[in-house]
Amino acid sequence: MDKDLKVFEELESEVRSYCRSFPTIFTKAKGSLMWDKNGKEYVDFFCGAGALNYGHNDPNMKQKLIEYISSDGITHSLDKATPPKQDFLTTLNESILKPRNLEYKVMFPGPTGTNTVESALKLARKVTGRTEVITFTNGFHGMTIGSLSVTGNAFKRKGAGIPLHNAVTMPYDRYMDDATDSLDYLEHYLEDGGSGVEVPAAVILETVQGEGGLNWASNKWLKRLEELCSRFEILLIIDDVQAGVGRTGTFFSFEPAGIKPDIVCMSKSIGGYGSPFAITLIKPEYDIWAPGEHNGTFRGNNHAFVTATEALKYWENPEFEKAIHKKVEKVTEFLNRIAKDYPELDGYVKGRGLMQGISCGVEGIADKVAAEAFSRGLIMETAGADDEVFKLFPAINIDDATLERGFSIIEESVKAAAS
Ligand code: PMP
Repeated sequence: MDKDLKVFEELESEVRSYCRSFPTIFTKAKGSLMWDKNGKEYVDFFCGAGALNYGHNDPNMKQKLIEYISSDGITHSLDKATPPKQDFLTTLNESILKPRNLEYKVMFPGPTGTNTVESALKLARKVTGRTEVITFTNGFHGMTIGSLSVTGNAFKRKGAGIPLHNAVTMPYDRYMDDATDSLDYLEHYLEDGGSGVEVPAAVILETVQGEGGLNWASNKWLKRLEELCSRFEILLIIDDVQAGVGRTGTFFSFEPAGIKPDIVCMSKSIGGYGSPFAITLIKPEYDIWAPGEHNGTFRGNNHAFVTATEALKYWENPEFEKAIHKKVEKVTEFLNRIAKDYPELDGYVKGRGLMQGISCGVEGIADKVAAEAFSRGLIMETAGADDEVFKLFPAINIDDATLERGFSIIEESVKAAAS
């Protein structure tokens, strides 16, 4: 083993994970490319698990950040008022929310995806005075006690010794089969006062399950879920931590469904540049926390405000979103061809937008494809309960040549893994 890698083995906890799948020392990154200390180049089809939707070191964001730091702009300010925070709030409202006919108050819950999920769950309890939460099979919402208790992953939950805490897991869309609407079951459950079923405070879900295997909810299903929530006065929380910020083709993943969630959780790429940042969007009528009732030291990092504002500005040009849709078409076409041309995978295409992959029926083969890809210079991860899906997660602004280069590496890797 490389002697530099040995340091991590000796000094870092056994829980480390991605450094095992990608065993090298990364030194540099730009756009959709990364380099390691040996100068080897990698195409990044992983994008920091969705934290780098705009690629690495975006030139506009970098420039603004350098200018801000050079001018001795404030880095840390708790939640005090600063110009970068003002710009962020204004740009989010004017360039993203208003054009989509959405009205939300913005809350800064702390720097991570888990922080926004925790804030949403807590707020839903306060708003409704109820405690239960409906969650869905294979959902992923974070690793703290609260967010883990609504995460449908037995391996991670059992390790923490926690059962579902005030959470009830329901079947996600198409969990049973294409013809059965799992919301019939939820509706029946909610109507069942007789056996002691309590109306929950909230329903939390991802529209595409990023970690759980790229299962995705149809527009019709989401619309019906919204109707059920409204009928029973349950708050609808969309966790857009991974599926948001253009990952599915639109800024918010729920836009094509035409729904208006009560609370939206965002993190990962909302900061634009890969720095820790999260926001919780709250319908104004639910903005009922008293000042300081939910706080934290890292609520709004000014560097992240600077880059996040710059990132949001891309969306002011309609061509930006159109270009993502073109990339989505290319990815869909490529994956459908691979699934057809390589029956050895026993696979089918799953997911939506730029979060699609192939679910493989042959055990262990998706991991093999990802490992072959790494050795050929492409970074990609697997998802699903058995890591059965290899997942394409290119930057939303990747150039066509790099996208095609990634496709070639993946096809070579599929050939190698299938042989
Ligand atoms: N929600 C979703 C949908 C996620 O994908 C993740 C992270 N993979 C989280 C929440 C938790 O985010 P974080 O790791 O930043 O706490």
